[in-house]
Amino acid sequence: KLFNEVQELKGNIRVYCRVRPFLAGQIAKQTTIDYIGENGELLVINPSKQGKDNHRMFKFNKVFAPSASQEEVFHDTQPLIRSVLDGFNVCIFAYGQTGSGKTYTMTGPNASSKKDWGVNYRALNDLFDISQKRKNSFTYEITVQMVEIYNEQVRDLLKTDGSQRRLGIWATSQPNGLAVPDASIYPVQSTSDVLDLMQIGQMNRAVGATALNERSSRSHSVLTVHVRGVDLESGAALRGCLNLVDLAGSERVDRSEATGDRLKEAQHINRSLSALGDVIFALAQKSSHVPYRNSKLTQILQSSLGGQAKTLMFVQLNPDVESYSETVSTLKFAERVS
Ligand code: ADP
Ligand code: MG
Repeated sequence: KLFNEVQELKGNIRVYCRVRPFLAGQIAKQTTIDYIGENGELLVINPSKQGKDNHRMFKFNKVFAPSASQEEVFHDTQPLIRSVLDGFNVCIFAYGQTGSGKTYTMTGPNASSKKDWGVNYRALNDLFDISQKRKNSFTYEITVQMVEIYNEQVRDLLKTDGSQRRLGIWATSQPNGLAVPDASIYPVQSTSDVLDLMQIGQMNRAVGATALNERSSRSHSVLTVHVRGVDLESGAALRGCLNLVDLAGSERVDRSEATGDRLKEAQHINRSLSALGDVIFALAQKSSHVPYRNSKLTQILQSSLGGQAKTLMFVQLNPDVESYSETVSTLKFAERVS
């Protein structure tokens, strides 16, 4: 199995890198990606620097080239999704600067075209498929929640009446296994149920958008899929949970330029991304202390990070030379945790 081999290497953390293509109209630009190897090697070049030390090599479990399709990217994720139905907790998230393809990987550009579907629709689709195939031995109940973390506040993205979307009360560990017990929770029976819910979530996310910056790049969104299975023969129950996270943009904000709300947002983002990095680093080091309590993000994800849980990080890169310094800072984040 794919994961056993990784488990021996570094516990249950797996890091994939995905380089997005140049977009239409961007073709003539120079790339910072010099080489992508079959075995997860990535060679990055600093085009503004001459000589030998303008290259840096990074190593991942896998690197997806700009030409990789959504289907190819999902292929290696599939065993993880299956394990949720076996009672494992799984966390999949996308990290990278704004515009690097996080939403493309996690959600996809277009929900109505199946081949464009990102990880989350494909994951749900698989969950329904597999649970259907197992229906003679298991019954499964699948429910979803969707929240946003903005400035260390958790908001329910699935409230349909526009009321009190901000969640005042929440707790890490509940008997029912919910990290955000007050967020709306919906049973889903099919991928189209999920598509409908995610559309509501995306609309609710947009409501908070300001003229200055797009809200979705300044907040983390967390889609949580809860699976409860009952073995029809023995009556034994199992619980699995899948967290699908589209993180806020990791770009550094120039302190001399950002003021007020913008600076506050940036500080919250920096702090929560560092907290996430610290947690994964501690897990990768098999450290006895894992600092989950330092951010809302890591508290919400706690049950799917560490222990028996399996974690997959997509490191997203924009190949443009103008993104070189952000690319390096993204790769350094990844290097620390992988
Ligand atoms: P982010 O969520 O990190 O800000 P997006 O996912 O919105 O970035 O991607 C930025 C732009 O690049 C979008 O127009 C998106 O459709 C496009 N894009 C990203 N990744 C790919 C890809 N693998 N193939 C084609 N277009 C992509
Ligand atoms: Mg996005």
